[in-house]
Amino acid sequence: MVGLVGVLGAVAYVVVPQVLPPGPRPLFQMPVGCGETWQLGTYPGHGDNDVDFFPLKGDPWGQPVLASYAGTVTVAGINGSLGGRTPENPEGPRGRGGGYWVKIDHGGRWETQYLHLLEPPMVQVGQRVAQGQQIGRIGSTGNSGAPHLHYEQRAGWRKVETWFDGRPSGITHDDTEYTVRLTSNNCAAAGN
Ligand SMILES: [Zn+2]
Repeated sequence: MVGLVGVLGAVAYVVVPQVLPPGPRPLFQMPVGCGETWQLGTYPGHGDNDVDFFPLKGDPWGQPVLASYAGTVTVAGINGSLGGRTPENPEGPRGRGGGYWVKIDHGGRWETQYLHLLEPPMVQVGQRVAQGQQIGRIGSTGNSGAPHLHYEQRAGWRKVETWFDGRPSGITHDDTEYTVRLTSNNCAAAGN
């Protein structure tokens, strides 16, 4: 019995992770142009808290994707495979995964992710980006049906509800299809 307790005690000691809570939530802005209204949506099987952005005005292809908050680029490349959906061939073969994508570390264990970009990202790993800085363009690479931006916010290891301009987006669960409309206040770089 003493031996068993000793083993369990040792195992417990080894597996207890060092859990660091995330820092305060950065004041994220929508990853699209200042003053623009976009549709944010999700659908069954999409993933809780995952948001798809579709513009309400103009041709979605090529619209600018902006950093939600200042940070350091930790991924800028291809997730899965690109496929062949382009402005010239929008019904081309679907790829897999996120296609061209970017991940930004905002410090305090907060991250954002931007998927299905049209072209190789406009930023590189290790690069410091400002809030509102363009990181890519809207596309449909990877497993994407139509040009849009798939977007996530993460705190520690967990995806969390996206917040913009200090307010929750309302896109939280994926058990049904629903949308909201929000206007971007990502205006820090408007003069650039
Ligand atoms: Zn998505």
